[in-house]
Amino acid sequence: MISEFELIRRYFTHRARRAVLGVGDDAALVNVRRGCELVVSTDMLLAGRHFLRDTDARELGHKALAVNLSDMAAMGATPRWATLALALPRADTRWLAAFSRGFMALARRYGVDLIGGDTTRGPLNICVQILGEVPSGMALRRDGARPGDEIWVSGALGDAALALAALQRRTRLEPAELARCAARLRRPQPRIALGLALRGVANSAIDVSDGLLADLGHILECSGVAAEIEFAALPSSTVLRRYLDRRIAREALLAGGDDYELCFTAPRRAREQIVRCGRRAGIAVTRIGRIRTRVRGAPRLIVHAADGTALRLARGGYDHFG
Ligand code: ADP
Ligand code: MG
Repeated sequence: MISEFELIRRYFTHRARRAVLGVGDDAALVNVRRGCELVVSTDMLLAGRHFLRDTDARELGHKALAVNLSDMAAMGATPRWATLALALPRADTRWLAAFSRGFMALARRYGVDLIGGDTTRGPLNICVQILGEVPSGMALRRDGARPGDEIWVSGALGDAALALAALQRRTRLEPAELARCAARLRRPQPRIALGLALRGVANSAIDVSDGLLADLGHILECSGVAAEIEFAALPSSTVLRRYLDRRIAREALLAGGDDYELCFTAPRRAREQIVRCGRRAGIAVTRIGRIRTRVRGAPRLIVHAADGTALRLARGGYDHFG
C-alpha cells in the first residue's frame, strides 16, 4: 500500500517554474508581477454529479484543470499556479498515474505550476484552485456590458450537452457523431488565448459552463441590462445542426452546459478587432445579438426564432419553441 507522502511525491510533485516554493512545505510561495492583480478561482468536481462514474482518469485530470482554466480565460487572465485537493476512495496507482498525466499535460501546455494541495481518503472529489495574473484594472468582468454592445460567443455551443444526452440514452447519435461531440464533453479546451486577446476590447465576458441562457443571464444581471439574441445566429457544429429538428438539440444549443466557450460583449466599433482576436486565438467568434436597456416588467432576455417570433423561455431553459 502506497503511503500518502509517497503518493504526493510520485504523482503530484513537479518542478515549479514560476513559484518561489512549490509542493513540499506547509504552503507555497508565489510572486505576482508588479502592476498585476492576482486572479483566484476554485471549481470542484464530484463523481456522479459533475462526471459519469466510469470517466477515464486521464480525461478527468484534464477536465478538472480545464474547467478552472476556463474561468481564467473568462477573466482575461494568464493562468500561473494551481492547487489540487483530492479525496480518493483508495490509493489506486494506475488511476493516479493516469489522472496526474491528464492534469499535468494540460498544466504544462499553459505554463501552470501545480504548487500544492491536499490528499485525503473519501468519496472521489476533485477540487482545483487556480491562480492567475491580470494587469490591474484589465480583467474581463460580468458587470461591464452596456446597452448597444453586441453579444458574441466563441466556437460552437451544445455539443457537450448533446453528447451527454446520447450517453444517457435520452437521444441517439451515430457512433462517429457521438465521438465528435463527446470529445467536447471529455476534453474541454479552455479559450485562454481568446480571453487574453479580448482584454481592453470586450466590455464583459463569462465562460459558458451552465448553458448560454444561464451564463449570458449572469452578465445581464450583473450589468443591469437586457438583451436580444437570434436563435438562427447561434454557432453549432455540423452534428448538432443535423438534429435541430429535435427539441433536445435545440435545448443543448441554448441551455446545455459544459461547452466552456466564451460569451462576451463589446461595442459595435470593436467588430473588426474581435474578428482579429478570434483569428489570432485560432477560434471562430460569432455575433449572436445585442445588449438592450433594461425595462422594468419586460423580459431580460428575448430569443428570436428564425421566423421572428420570440421563444418562450423558462428559467435557464425554454418550454416552447417557435
Ligand atoms: P500539511 O499536513 O501541512 O497539510 P500535507 O501532508 O497535506 O501537508 O501536504 C504536504 C505537501 O504536499 C504540501 O506542500 C501540500 O501542498 C502538497 N500536496 C498534498 N496533496 C497534494 C496534491 N494532491 N497535489 C499537489 N500537492 C499536494
Ligand atoms: Mg494537508
